[in-house]
Amino acid sequence: MTALADILRKQIRTTGPLTVSQYMSACLLHPEHGYYTTQDAFGVDGDFTTAPEISQIFGEVIGLCVAQAWLDQGAPDAFALVELGPGRGTLIADVLRATLQVPGFHAAARLHLVEASRRMRALQAAALPAHAPAWHDTVETLPEDVPVFVIANEFFDALPIRQFQRDAKGWREVLIGLSETGQLQRGLSDAAPIDALEHRLDDTQPGALIETCAHGTAVVDAVARRIAQQGGMALIIDYGGWRSNGDTFQAVRAHRSVDPFSDPGRADLTAHVDFEALARAAMIAGCEASQLTDQGVFLERLGITPRAQTLARGLRGSALEAHVGAHRRLTHPDEMGSLFKVLGLFPGTESPPPGLDP
Ligand code: SAH
Repeated sequence: MTALADILRKQIRTTGPLTVSQYMSACLLHPEHGYYTTQDAFGVDGDFTTAPEISQIFGEVIGLCVAQAWLDQGAPDAFALVELGPGRGTLIADVLRATLQVPGFHAAARLHLVEASRRMRALQAAALPAHAPAWHDTVETLPEDVPVFVIANEFFDALPIRQFQRDAKGWREVLIGLSETGQLQRGLSDAAPIDALEHRLDDTQPGALIETCAHGTAVVDAVARRIAQQGGMALIIDYGGWRSNGDTFQAVRAHRSVDPFSDPGRADLTAHVDFEALARAAMIAGCEASQLTDQGVFLERLGITPRAQTLARGLRGSALEAHVGAHRRLTHPDEMGSLFKVLGLFPGTESPPPGLDP
């Protein structure tokens, strides 16, 4: 058991059971014992591998998408290039390298990184030696006077969710309390009537479990308001689907699925992203949302295969094999190609970002 488990047990004894959201926040971002505060999570040696860590072509293609969207919006001479949850900084470094040849893009861009973990910020600074990013704890402090071009890859899945289980009459919230032997254990609250869940009584049966992510919709609200008023766009890339359905709360450690309650703070905790909720939040904020598109389709439309073929010409042997494998992993429907989806946000006066349909 971890030090964080002791802290959480004490907290539960003092103030009662935790929501999944409170538990997830503590496990990921506790200032001393949180996963993102203490671990170097990414890559082959870490707990999980994200798309930009698989191959540079992912970030290059995203970079060309952002640059084309910037050109399509009249190449504004000052804009914020924003990444939410940049991890090791690999994606934004690849985006910046791929856009070096786009006339005026770098001169107009100011880099803004939304990152809660000080440890991650240090890794990002090291990955971007030629840039001076402005870091933000939350999206609330992002610029309010220039267009914002926002990238978020595997950010929303890390935001804390709440879980609700349906009974014959309505919803009960999943809570984390203690077993008789003092172990963390899941249970259900008394009836939790929540207006925002009323409509889900129409498409669920007793026993169904659904997840909500208020943090995610608040982030989209802040970003979408800026896009609607200031211009720009957002690319939200993550695993999930259209409308939450079922328990997707999961823990991953050393590339294996583990019990989310066994070692709090030592495993990455995530949940699938409910893209419908994000698209709704964007539209309420006055922004348009694109069709939800499979990552594989999106990358193909942006020309990942010719780009991969060009790079392959300079490779031989195991390097070539790894490169071909990486391309497959990013695009193939049996790998990340259809589990991961892309949602674009854009102003009503503009077209969706390249690769996405209105
Ligand atoms: N985008 C990166 C990393 C994804 S992991 C990639 O594709 O490789 C999630 C990232 O979001 C980490 O950098 C983590 O520290 C950050 N993060 C998680 N929760 C956050 C929050 N609530 N606010 C700001 N950053 C957060």
